[in-house]
Amino acid sequence: MITFKHEPFMDFSTEENKEAFKSGLELVESYLGKDYPLVIGGEKITTEEKIVSVNPAQKDQVVGRVSKANRELAQQAMDSALTALESWKKVKPEIRADVLFKAAAIIRRRKHEFSALLVKEAGKPWNEADADTAEGIDFLEYYGRQMLELKDGKKVESRPGEYNRYDYIPLGVGVIISPWNFAFAIMAGTTVAAIVSGNTVLLKPASTTPVVAAKFVEVMEEAGLPKGVLNYIPGSGSEVGDFLVDHPKTRFISFTGSREVGTRIYERAAVVNEGQIWLKRVIAEMGGKDTIVVDKEADLELAAQSIVQSAFGFSGQKCSACSRAVIVEDVYDEVLNRAVELTKELTIGDPADQNNFMGPVNDQNAFDKIMKYIELGKDEGELMTGGEGDDSKGYFIKPTIFAGLDPKARLMQEEIFGPVVAFSKAKDFTEALEIANNTEYGLTGAVITNNRMNMEIAREEFHVGNLYFNRGCTGAIVGYQPFGGFNMSGTDSKAGGPDYLLLHMQAKTTSEML
Ligand code: GLU
Repeated sequence: MITFKHEPFMDFSTEENKEAFKSGLELVESYLGKDYPLVIGGEKITTEEKIVSVNPAQKDQVVGRVSKANRELAQQAMDSALTALESWKKVKPEIRADVLFKAAAIIRRRKHEFSALLVKEAGKPWNEADADTAEGIDFLEYYGRQMLELKDGKKVESRPGEYNRYDYIPLGVGVIISPWNFAFAIMAGTTVAAIVSGNTVLLKPASTTPVVAAKFVEVMEEAGLPKGVLNYIPGSGSEVGDFLVDHPKTRFISFTGSREVGTRIYERAAVVNEGQIWLKRVIAEMGGKDTIVVDKEADLELAAQSIVQSAFGFSGQKCSACSRAVIVEDVYDEVLNRAVELTKELTIGDPADQNNFMGPVNDQNAFDKIMKYIELGKDEGELMTGGEGDDSKGYFIKPTIFAGLDPKARLMQEEIFGPVVAFSKAKDFTEALEIANNTEYGLTGAVITNNRMNMEIAREEFHVGNLYFNRGCTGAIVGYQPFGGFNMSGTDSKAGGPDYLLLHMQAKTTSEML
C-alpha cells in the first residue's frame, strides 16, 4: 500500500492543463440539463417532481433536473439501507476499502469533468473546483487507509489465562446531509467515511448541488459498491431531512451546513422516538467566524495577501473563510490599505472563464442575505471597497472590506458566508487575541507574526479547531490538517483526521477465558 499523499493541485499556467480543463468544461456542457433519478436499493427511480439545479453564474442555465424524494421514498430508502446493512457490515474492511480506492482512481481519471461540474453547478473558479475534486479524492484514499489501520481494533491487555480484544463494529444506517460549498469533497468524504466503516447510508445532498452528487453515486456503483449501501435521495430538509433525522432506525446523522440547521438536527436527534433502541449520534460541522490576527512584528505583505485570499477565495463561502481581520494598531493602516489595494485588483465574473478570480454566490437566498449584511456594514463600519451586488444574470457580489468595526458589532459576530471581511483594530497582541476569541464559533484562525513568544501564546489561547501561523485560514488538507471546530462550529469531528472513522463505529470488548 502506497502511503497517503494528498492529490496535487493542477497548475493552470500550462497550456496542456488549461486545455485539459477546457475539455472537462465541454464535456459537462454537452450533458447540461439532463434528468437524474433517485437511487434506492440500486434501483433508479424517477419522480414527477424535480429539483432543478441551475448555474449560479447564469441563472437561466439548467445544470440538471434531479428527482425529488418524499417521505414514502425516504422510508423505502431506509428499508433498503437496513437490508443492505446486514450483508455490508460483514464485508471485510479490506474489500470495503478497495471500493474507495477504485472510486478514487475513477475520479482521478475524470478529474476535470468533476471540477468542471463544480464550476457550473457551484460557481467555483477553476482552482477552487480543482481543489474540491482533489480533496474528494483525498478523502477516498485517506479513509480507505484509515479503515485498514482500524480493522483489527486496538490493543488492550490480557492477564494470564485470558484473551481480550477491542474491536470496532459499524453503527447502522446513517443519514448524510451534505453542503453545497464543497459539493464534491464534503459530500463524498462524509458519505465514504460512513460506508467504509461498514455502515449503509442515505445521502441527501444540498438542493443547489445535487448533480455532482448523482455523478458520484454512479462512480461508487461502478467501483463495485453493492446495491442499497448508498442510497441517493435529494429532497427538502423539512420533509425528507426531518423525517430521517427523527426516524427510529436512523443510527447516526452526519451533517455539514449552517449552525441553524445543525442545532435543529442536534435537538431533534436527541429525542428518543417510538421503536428506537439507541441514542443517535450526530456529527456536525457548522459555521465559523474566522479571524486572521496580525501582530506588529509581522510580514505585512503576507498578512494582506492571506486576508484577501482567505476572505474572497470562492467568494468567502467556506466555513473556514476569514471574515474578521484583527490588526494590532501599529500596523493597522498599512495592512488595511494593502488589503484594499489587492482586493481592487480581483476580477469577478463567470467562473468558466479562467481569468476570473471570483465567481457568483450560491443562490438568491445567499445573495439577499449577504447584501443585507453589506447594508448593515455601512452603518457599523466604514466601507473601504466593494459593497455592490448584481443579480440580474447570476449572483455576483463584489469583494467587500469594512474597516473600523467594534468587536461586538454584528458584522464581527455573525456568519455572513460571503465575500465580506470586517477589519478591527487592537491596541496590542493580547487584545487582538481577546477579540479573536470573542465569538460563539471556533473553527479556524490564523496569526501572522514573527514573534515566537506571541505565536506560542496564540497556540495556547486562540480557541479554534484549526489554527494556522503565517498563512491564511482556509484550505485544510486531508491527512495533514484534520478539519473541524469548537463551540458552535460543531462537534469538532476533525474530517480527514485519524479519529474521524471512529465516529462512525462503536467499540466492542470481548474477553475469553483460555
Ligand atoms: N475544509 C475547508 C477549508 O479548510 C472548509 C470546509 C467548509 O467550508 O465547509 O477551507
